Amino acid sequence: MPASRLRPDALSVDTDIRTYPIRFVHLADVSAHLNDLGLHGPRVVVITDENVAAHYRTPLVHAFEAAGWTPHVVVVPPGESSKSLDRLSTLYDTLLPLGLERSTPVCTLGGGVVGDLGGFAAATLLRGVPLVHLPTSLLAQVDSSIGGKTGINHTVGKNLIGSFYQPHAVLVDPETLLTLPAREWVNGMAEAVKHGFIADPELIDYTERHLVDILGHHDLEATVPAVRAAMHIKAQVVADDEREAGKRAWLNFGHTFAHAIEHVAGYGTVAHGEAVALGMRAALYLSHRRAPAALDHDRLDALLAQLPTPDVSGLAFEALWDAMRHDKKTKDGTIRFVLLHAVGDPFVADDCTRASVQRAWDFVQQSTA
Ligand code: ADP
Ligand code: ZN
Repeated sequence: MPASRLRPDALSVDTDIRTYPIRFVHLADVSAHLNDLGLHGPRVVVITDENVAAHYRTPLVHAFEAAGWTPHVVVVPPGESSKSLDRLSTLYDTLLPLGLERSTPVCTLGGGVVGDLGGFAAATLLRGVPLVHLPTSLLAQVDSSIGGKTGINHTVGKNLIGSFYQPHAVLVDPETLLTLPAREWVNGMAEAVKHGFIADPELIDYTERHLVDILGHHDLEATVPAVRAAMHIKAQVVADDEREAGKRAWLNFGHTFAHAIEHVAGYGTVAHGEAVALGMRAALYLSHRRAPAALDHDRLDALLAQLPTPDVSGLAFEALWDAMRHDKKTKDGTIRFVLLHAVGDPFVADDCTRASVQRAWDFVQQSTA
């Protein structure tokens, strides 16, 4: 029997470029981990945002200095607006005059924004310098730090400029979660639960038992096994997709609706994870309609209902349907949903009727009203 994902011995991400580890660490020990990965000082660049810097800049800098390193810390404003060409350009302006070498490691310390922006800077500075992610948001830990996606936004759309650039490691200090705002916990847990739905009934059972400890009490002992399991699933899906194209699409469970909700509500009004939570409820409803026997809809929906979401009573189905039809992932007007035969057994459906999708949204609206 395979080791439980809730307690795997070692985690790694296997890609064509390299196999890199996911480690649970203390921020104070980061320099020792860099050495162990073959990355050496004395110089190291740390890219972070103002919120994260307020808590972790000083201890991380002190730890590096105590180990004989010279850290250069670059702090960007928090939020999606930092994923811009202007901000990237400022980063180059700051970093290039330092005379970095091809071997100088760049660490991103923060959430998905810092990981995407800093990752793209690392991918492009001197045609690529070693990158290490230190994800501090739950969403970045369970999702965006794994898979090598880096990039920035353009006025035409989100994430339209970027590259796949694999880090040398993902180093997670779970204690950084203790300063994360409550809404960001929901954001991250939505994606963690999503990973359970597409790949791991055990993670779903675990979340059912521990979601109150995690979201209500920010209990790290309860949280870490879920983070590990979610990271393991993401790593497996990413690795498998390199050999067997298509699995990565499963990560879009809940996302057809989510992207439309974010678009129609206005980006930032409904956070990504909140939109995913609502989208998963709709996808679960559609799945259950197609194969009622294999899914305990009421039980699974009750789990999703524990993820608090904003009021979406004002989001008309017509507007959502329109947004789904014009999503960049929609080909030939065919709207694709990732649905479930059962927990851990996803498939892609491109034949959901407008009426069935509307019923799913009606259900979500009624049950969140
Ligand atoms: P994501 O949710 O994709 O990770 P961000 O990078 O914007 O997106 O992070 C979400 C928010 O949480 C940002 O405002 C960021 O500054 C903040 N944040 C991230 N990690 C921490 C942390 N450990 N403590 C406090 N705030 C944090
Ligand atoms: Zn997502």
